[in-house]
Amino acid sequence: MTRLDELRAGLDATNARIDAACSAAGRDRGEVALTVVTKFFPASDVRLLAGLGVTDVGENRHQEAEAKQAECAALGLRWHFIGGLQKNKAAAVARYADVVESVDRPELLPRLARGAAERGRPLDVLLQVSLDPAGSDHRAGADPATLGALAAEVDAFVDLRLGGLMAVAPLGEDPAAAFARLQEIRHGFLADHPDATALSAGMSGDLEQAVAAGATHVRVGSAVLGSRPSVQ
Ligand SMILES: *Cc1c(COP(=O)(O)O)cnc(C)c1O
Repeated sequence: MTRLDELRAGLDATNARIDAACSAAGRDRGEVALTVVTKFFPASDVRLLAGLGVTDVGENRHQEAEAKQAECAALGLRWHFIGGLQKNKAAAVARYADVVESVDRPELLPRLARGAAERGRPLDVLLQVSLDPAGSDHRAGADPATLGALAAEVDAFVDLRLGGLMAVAPLGEDPAAAFARLQEIRHGFLADHPDATALSAGMSGDLEQAVAAGATHVRVGSAVLGSRPSVQ
């Protein structure tokens, strides 16, 4: 099997899972977009994926993402930054990313806005919400109680466009239970921000549960590309 055959098979299987999840949830397939997470895989894979019709790719580490995006700039892909964001890297990320999905604190915003302004176009941002149990330290993602304030701060920057929410199901919990909480959080959020309808949730292991809970974007890596090197 060539790499192209492998990627085509992974993509076909993933799209079949999304199709089935949409039917099971009574949703239109057009409501759920696929972002292929290419972290740890080479630019040559990104090129093959683009040839197979992939339009959106996700990366989680700044240096790797920056280099790969530069190498693949001619492919016309949408680049989603989905990783933990250091504040001193935020402006740089905003210069090549089309969407930053991991916005979880206000101090990132002026830096993202500066990068977007330097690039000369508004940046789409999603707020990453923590689904960790109440009272935990919310390591990745904003405490749901702070989402409203964070969203209001995003609205104050003309160079940032609030697209919606992103979340990762906590390890060790039934993803259906975690995404049910997410659905509730989103319900409250949409009451104040009716246009911020994106919900990025679901990965290789739990995309069905995420689609059932209303995800509009699933972020799938290993089910398309194979397993990553274990050094993460
Ligand atoms: C790596 C990653 C994914 C994709 O994970 P897979 O299990 O390989 O599908 C999705 N979302 C985020 C935030 C990631 O870091």
